[in-house]
Amino acid sequence: MTELSGGPTLVQERRVVTAIPGPKSQELMARKQASVAGGVGTVLPVFARRAGGGVLEDVDGNSFIDFGSGIAVTSVGNSAEAVVRRATEQLNDFTHTCAMVAPYEPYVQVCEELAALTPGDHAKKSALFNSGAEAVENAVKVARAHTGRQAVVVFDHGYHGRTNLTMALTSKNMPYKHSFGPFAPEVYRVPVAYPYRWLTGPENCAEEAAAQAIDQITKQIGADNVAAIIIEPVLGEGGFIVPAKGFLPRIQQFARDNGIVFVADEIQSGFCRTGQWFACEDEGLVPDLITTAKGIAGGLPLAAVTGRAEIMDSAHSGGLGGTYGGNPVACAAAIGSIETMRELDLPAKARRIEEIMKPRLEKIAEQSGVIGEVRGRGAMLAIELVKPGGKEPDPEATAALAKACHQQGLLVLTTGTYGNVVRFLPPLVIGEDLLNEGLDILEDALSGL
Ligand SMILES: *Cc1c(COP(=O)(O)O)cnc(C)c1O
Repeated sequence: MTELSGGPTLVQERRVVTAIPGPKSQELMARKQASVAGGVGTVLPVFARRAGGGVLEDVDGNSFIDFGSGIAVTSVGNSAEAVVRRATEQLNDFTHTCAMVAPYEPYVQVCEELAALTPGDHAKKSALFNSGAEAVENAVKVARAHTGRQAVVVFDHGYHGRTNLTMALTSKNMPYKHSFGPFAPEVYRVPVAYPYRWLTGPENCAEEAAAQAIDQITKQIGADNVAAIIIEPVLGEGGFIVPAKGFLPRIQQFARDNGIVFVADEIQSGFCRTGQWFACEDEGLVPDLITTAKGIAGGLPLAAVTGRAEIMDSAHSGGLGGTYGGNPVACAAAIGSIETMRELDLPAKARRIEEIMKPRLEKIAEQSGVIGEVRGRGAMLAIELVKPGGKEPDPEATAALAKACHQQGLLVLTTGTYGNVVRFLPPLVIGEDLLNEGLDILEDALSGL
């Protein structure tokens, strides 16, 4: 696995050689506390030295199995050969000209790849940005320019970023929005089909949730005031919620019938993560616009809005852009990352990860009594933790479980509106031995709760 790892000497193994955090990490943490704003939190209290393949090595020499991928970013690993090579070559040529001042080929190449890879065979165009939030903001700008309307519809448990507009689009108060208002106007939130927590049961969930959502849109906003409906095909920060089958097509059809731009936010679920290039392919959706970021460039900051050419062209010339958007080094990294995804068939690798992980998680769930549901697709899997005998969320047990895993050298992340979901987002290039070892640690940690 040398070609996928953080330099040829990064061994693909779990190794815990100090207490977690070790002394060097503790020293750095003291410096962080003195110089970095308190609002910038930390999941794992260790400082990274190298990372790649399926492991993250810290400054004390501990090596963690990585079930987080820097939040679904390093799907090709943290230092994939093609990403490093292409980014390095680009660094040697030039770091920046500003795409709005003097354009360069890698920007165009990324947009061509996005047109080829995203669902639908209609004419497509893209614009590139630096972060997911920026992509979502620009999708809203484009949809408003195209429709001449203002309202934006989002869903319960949705997450779209941390800028002012995207905070407004995001559902959860803590930690994303608390004390940061006032928020942007003309944002409306409607129900989503969350099968596990749908009051009348999962069987009715898709139909009832869609009916409620559509009723609220038509009665409270007016469909002809709505510029865009934005949804994550698999909801990430909301708890890896897979909307009940049938819900997304109903919503898309409603958008189409009413001239509303349907936006799939695939920033977390896109680029092979769920076992397909994009999660919306699962139900054959063809979004008008699709936002991508995270997995696109192997860890370099890049984001995109891709969509129907006639919609993307509705913003006036000079209306979209930014100093760094589509930086050439990030574009070169994206080309290397996409090349790696194709060559290693990473959608198939994501499906293989599901094949290994899901049955084991289900077996662990049967034995444990605190796992309400195992869900997700591909390498975007999660367990929802509840108090025994019911469905009451258990965020304390969830935090304790994550911490116990960290102590044993397994990096896991938590998520969810109720803080009671442990999510699994391994790099798609992780070795199967590490995957199985990670599951052993999880099982042990759960039984020790
Ligand atoms: C992470 C994320 C964003 C925001 O991306 P940033 O790069 O953090 O701004 C938006 N939407 C979804 C679905 C995300 O997961």
